[in-house]
Amino acid sequence: MAPLSVAEAARLIREGRLVAFPTETVYGLGANALDAAAVERIFAAKRRPHTSPLIVHVDSIEMARRWVSAWPAAAETLARHYWPGPLTLVLPKRAEIPDVVTAGLATVGIRIPAHPLALALIREAGVPIAGPSANRFTELSPTSAGHVPVELADYVLDGGPARVGIESTVLSLAGAPTLLRPGVIPLPEIEALIGPAATLAAPAEGAHPAPGMHARHYRPSTPLHLLPAAAPTPPGRGRWLRLGVEMPRDPLAYAATLYGTLYGLDRENLDWIAVEQPPETPQWAGVLDRLRRAAC
Ligand code: AMP
Ligand code: MG
Repeated sequence: MAPLSVAEAARLIREGRLVAFPTETVYGLGANALDAAAVERIFAAKRRPHTSPLIVHVDSIEMARRWVSAWPAAAETLARHYWPGPLTLVLPKRAEIPDVVTAGLATVGIRIPAHPLALALIREAGVPIAGPSANRFTELSPTSAGHVPVELADYVLDGGPARVGIESTVLSLAGAPTLLRPGVIPLPEIEALIGPAATLAAPAEGAHPAPGMHARHYRPSTPLHLLPAAAPTPPGRGRWLRLGVEMPRDPLAYAATLYGTLYGLDRENLDWIAVEQPPETPQWAGVLDRLRRAAC
């Protein structure tokens, strides 16, 4: 695949094509968020159910406000503190955002990504870019251009490895503040800025307490077991990922390497991957959420 420039990527987005693009969290599969037919192609390519809404990426607070119909004080506070960065705010949407983007919901998830190429792409395209992770539904999210499945995107804008490595924290401000998906930002840090926020319990198999919260998600194809450090080693050929041994002890460093590590192990035809369970602290909540959904 020939390297793609931002100008070419922006032209493709304006023409209704899909372009995989780098963000600081994971690579996104981008389309013009105002073009319902282009957004439909994202769902088809990913085989993503239409019940799972997409995040809309913008390059400024002004652009975010243009596409939402309410901007509470908490949104202003959090946007000023975290954007550009790995926090998605769910807010009431404007009618011009097609229903396919938001899975028919009256709300839209929106954020400014902290990656220079993503920001340049949005600016050059001149439109908000709808972009879920550039993976097949339920599979691992790509954290480098080379991990974007070739059959998924015709075009990939290469921005190097993703710095954060897991998907954004998703916080709804459409009603009382509610954490919909943990990420690398600890909830107590958000609460120190805007006051208490509710959390949704991890979903039971098949149930969705919030749109897109599918229990089985972020999966390698090798069976993954989340285990205490002292657990017996499973039978067959496999690899342990222990804290402070194969994996970093710091939650941010762990998140940055998690998907790339699983991607690599998936290519070794192992019978199992055993992951030592990280601590149940707010700093680890994002990583734990992904590991629980990846585990069998
Ligand atoms: P992905 O981009 O693949 O990480 O998926 C985007 C996720 O953002 C969805 O699966 C939801 O968890 C969340 N999201 C996006 N928009 C909304 C919304 N309007 N309401 C609730 N959650 C949302
Ligand atoms: Mg995803």
